[in-house]
Amino acid sequence: MTFGNEQVPVVAVSTVVVGTGSAGYCAADRLWELGHDDIVMVADKVRAGASRNAGSDKQTYYKLTLSGSEPDSVREMAETLFSGGAMDGDNALAEAALSARGFIRLCDLGVPFPQNRYGEFVGYKTDHDPRQRATSVGPYTSRTMVEQLEKKVRRNGTQVLDECRVVDIVVHPDGHGGSRVAGLLVLRTNISSGSSESPFLFFRCQNIVYATGGPAGIYAKRVFPNGQWGASGAALRAGVIGKNLTEWQFGLGSIKPRWNVSGTYMQAIPRFVSTDAEGNDEREFLTEAIEDYGRLISLVFLKGYQWPFDARKAADGSSLIDLLVYQETALRGRRVFLDFRSNPVRTSFDHAELQPEAHEYLNRAGALFGTPIERLRHMNEPAYRFYLDRNPYIDLEKQMLEVDVCAQHNNGGLTVDAWWQSNVRGFFPVGEAAGSHGVYRPGGAALNSGQVGATRAAQFIAASDATPAHSEKEFIEAGTPILRAALDLLASATNRAEQGTPDNTGEMLSRVQELMSEKAGPVRSRHSILEALQQVSLWADEYSEVVSADRESRRSINRTFLVRDILTTAHVYLSAMADYIAHDGKSRGSVIYSDPSGSLPRRGYGSEPGKELALPDIFKFSLDNGALDDEVQETTLTSPLPLQALETSGTTTDRGAKPLPSKVEFNWRRRRPIPQDDEFFENVWRDFRANGNIY
Ligand SMILES: Cc1cc2nc3c(=O)[nH]c(=O)nc-3n(C[C@H](O)[C@H](O)[C@H](O)COP(=O)(O)OP(=O)(O)OC[C@H]3O[C@@H](n4cnc5c(N)ncnc54)[C@H](O)[C@@H]3O)c2cc1C
Repeated sequence: MTFGNEQVPVVAVSTVVVGTGSAGYCAADRLWELGHDDIVMVADKVRAGASRNAGSDKQTYYKLTLSGSEPDSVREMAETLFSGGAMDGDNALAEAALSARGFIRLCDLGVPFPQNRYGEFVGYKTDHDPRQRATSVGPYTSRTMVEQLEKKVRRNGTQVLDECRVVDIVVHPDGHGGSRVAGLLVLRTNISSGSSESPFLFFRCQNIVYATGGPAGIYAKRVFPNGQWGASGAALRAGVIGKNLTEWQFGLGSIKPRWNVSGTYMQAIPRFVSTDAEGNDEREFLTEAIEDYGRLISLVFLKGYQWPFDARKAADGSSLIDLLVYQETALRGRRVFLDFRSNPVRTSFDHAELQPEAHEYLNRAGALFGTPIERLRHMNEPAYRFYLDRNPYIDLEKQMLEVDVCAQHNNGGLTVDAWWQSNVRGFFPVGEAAGSHGVYRPGGAALNSGQVGATRAAQFIAASDATPAHSEKEFIEAGTPILRAALDLLASATNRAEQGTPDNTGEMLSRVQELMSEKAGPVRSRHSILEALQQVSLWADEYSEVVSADRESRRSINRTFLVRDILTTAHVYLSAMADYIAHDGKSRGSVIYSDPSGSLPRRGYGSEPGKELALPDIFKFSLDNGALDDEVQETTLTSPLPLQALETSGTTTDRGAKPLPSKVEFNWRRRRPIPQDDEFFENVWRDFRANGNIY
């Protein structure tokens, strides 16, 4: 089709599924099974994404109880999810109601979730879980899910287009004061500059299932795998509302390779060592704040299953470990390593000093002996082998493992209703891109949510009217300014490089990521957030006037759009954080917000008050104690092309200080309660028979 003067190929299709992770493949397969086979999948790199490339010691899938004699119910599971705070009740109910369905489907496709000889899917208890709803296939649960789902999608014959980076979503007014999906613009990163083909490709479609994962690319310190960037910026630019954007999970991860050091890596109780930047001046730093030996080794042990950093456990619990690591790396500029070769503090492992919970566990595991590496290999040989099998390998028998406090999961994301449709009609964020969780979530709930959201979106799409939403003319009208902006950005970036400005896309990417990790990670203050917001707004504002990209380098061209997406995302996320603070939000979830009137973590246990540790003031905090659990923060980018049109008008975020450049609006609303629907069978059946009444 011709857009202005530009010829760009267009794929006309009913539904585009963006992202080839566990959520995307699930959506594509469900759509196909429901008879909606006019679909195409796209991804920047088919083999990228967290599902395929991330995991942990025992990667968890959370589901309804399907074994034993302990009672469980859809309602009870919904209540557990809802109790995490700031989660909408209809999403919680759907995640519980479709949990068994999503899980059994995976089993039937060949994901080997452990069952006993009678077919019971026995579970274990995970964090924030009152029952034993968790299960796992080992370190690679999500990878196995992707592999089996992918095979099925291939068998369905669905077309999957690789090397397509999302540039922008095309939306058009829906005639009711809102907007709806008209298409999608992607950059084909495999088209070289000399080609006569346009590097761009349009999809003209009614629905987009957006399974692009978490916006991992905004943080430098992240345990998301290499190559997972996310594409939330494009959705935000199209007017999709962000929800609970402040809520992330941070935790201890190794840096090379990126991997959660949860479970046995902590239960083996390694030594925590820090060095200067060159690897010299080695010292054990935990003892500085945790003098009691028994307490120190017990807290390290507890980090095994209290993995994410939790503000509630920062005062006197296991999250103190994360704070002390943060102090070494972020505040003192040192490096932190786990040393499995020798015991912490003392040469011997004086296990009699462990707290009863830790002692009993290690006793039952037969691991009350030796050095950390001996205990690790005794309890979990694959966990040791994992690092040995990497390239370059790390032999924990001989080497230390570098770690940091890293971003691991975005609980918030793009807004969804009970069918995982956003405020833009036809646009369905699923998986981690969706903001379906609240402040806390049980470990494993992310993978369940991805399967449920994908299924709900597919059901809704399959039941919807299939007539095209827009005429060809309307599509061209809506697509032309979007293409124009992309072409202009590309032209200015490549012209600048040709005029001698060295390619700066890589540098721009790192500086925003580093700033976000430094100022907006697990420890944030009003000052750090406003400072970062001002900086990112400036970078976003001047981006098209300073970016320089080598025309011959496909990587640079790709990064030109990646950096734009990351700047948009960082800008909106920082705005949400500033607004959270202005809304009197206190420390919760995986973040502490510095509060001069709060208190520092304590020397002893909770029962011994008044003994604050000599830590920097930045660690002074007050807990929110659930004060905002019933509210949801919604964030909207109102400027159509924010990177060219940021205004310096005041915002609601900054009370009395310098006005911030922003075009972001906020709305705090009551969260939707868990629905209390009529459960009388005849009534539900009647509605269900009249197809449409349930949608
Ligand atoms: C180390 C680690 C451990 C974890 N452990 C657990 C656990 O134990 N239990 C649990 O429930 N969850 C866990 N999670 C979270 C969980 O793995 C993810 O939330 C989930 O896999 C996300 O799946 P997804 O399909 O939404 O996205 P992903 O699997 O991340 O897939 C995203 C897809 O979108 C594509 N994409 C991204 N950006 C673009 C773009 N700009 N243009 C085009 N395509 C794009 C990618 O190529 C990829 O195909 C963990 C995460 C990490 C990082």
